[in-house]
Amino acid sequence: MTQKEWVVPYTALGSEAATLKTDYLQAFEKVLLSGRYITGPELSAFELEFAEYCQSPFAVGVATGTDALFLVLRSLGLKADDEVITAPNSFIASASSIALAGAKPVFVDIGSDGNMDPGRLEASITPRTKAIMPVHLTGRPANMPGILEIAKKHNLFVLEDAAQAVGASLNGIKVGSWGDAACFSLHPLKNLRAIGDGGMITTKHQWLYDRLKQARNHGLVNREQCDFWSYNSRLDELQAALLRVQLRRLDAQTEKRRQLALRYNELLRPYVIVPDEGPGEHCVYQTYVILAEYRDDLKKFLNDNGVEVLIHYATPIHLQPAAAYLGYSASDFPMTMRHAGRILSLPIYPSLTHAQQDQVVALIRDFFRKRG
Ligand SMILES: *Cc1c(COP(=O)(O)O)cnc(C)c1O
Repeated sequence: MTQKEWVVPYTALGSEAATLKTDYLQAFEKVLLSGRYITGPELSAFELEFAEYCQSPFAVGVATGTDALFLVLRSLGLKADDEVITAPNSFIASASSIALAGAKPVFVDIGSDGNMDPGRLEASITPRTKAIMPVHLTGRPANMPGILEIAKKHNLFVLEDAAQAVGASLNGIKVGSWGDAACFSLHPLKNLRAIGDGGMITTKHQWLYDRLKQARNHGLVNREQCDFWSYNSRLDELQAALLRVQLRRLDAQTEKRRQLALRYNELLRPYVIVPDEGPGEHCVYQTYVILAEYRDDLKKFLNDNGVEVLIHYATPIHLQPAAAYLGYSASDFPMTMRHAGRILSLPIYPSLTHAQQDQVVALIRDFFRKRG
């Protein structure tokens, strides 16, 4: 499709970045003139600030959110028959990182909150299970108390895929501090965004922190000594400096997303299922996802009328061609399939105006009134 002029676009990355231009350019100039572009003071400072923000003892910057997942899993020394359990309704990287780390992705169905259902988790655990990877999808925290209880009972490592959920919390405890480790994406479409790619890992374990600092840097312990073969996956000084600017504004931006989400909830409740927060949940709405009947028609109607809406994600991971060898079928996860046919992501971002939001709501109301 050619570039379309949306009445309400799905994102406003350029115009939102423009409001930070002075601070960004200052940060850019500082790094540029410092002559230090890889693993320097900006990255160290950002790691400390990010760890503190996530209420976690350690944070490590890497090149992408996918690398974050992969490098943590690889640090567990997984073998070919080992299994890692995750949710099937996520972005593909939740599963591909498991496979790329040499293990087998195992899926468990979601609950009505759209996240891994702890009630179904235990049935998926085998003697080969090594880790559980809940995903905090859309910026809503997964049921971590339920998941951790089962993980503890079976002595399993817990890796939070918090790619969409920086700043979210459950019972006042931030995502990124619940599990053994957590991974964040700093992709431009995530709430804390690089001007390009970036990823972060938080962990409570000193051994994993030490390992990851080497794992992102060729396995080097210093310039001379390489302890194990590894990858080059570092977060640039420049991105770290720009991210420090973003991090200072994150909570204010998140608050705007939350206000918009609550407003959508009230206005759309008569027509669709809205993402009400459960007890203790503090969601950050990386996406604002409704469940709608006639979803495909509604999506077309909104797009035809200038409102850009998307589906995250139309095909669950277990039904991707890449996952065919795992042998799943469309009848395996009823709640995941129910969601896949109904989910629709509406525009939500700090600079979205009430007038724009009202246009989206009016169209959805018109659509369902015509349906009767
Ligand atoms: C974005 C995302 C990733 C991957 O992050 P990248 O930075 O794009 O590599 C992984 N998991 C989930 C749930 C995501 O949304």
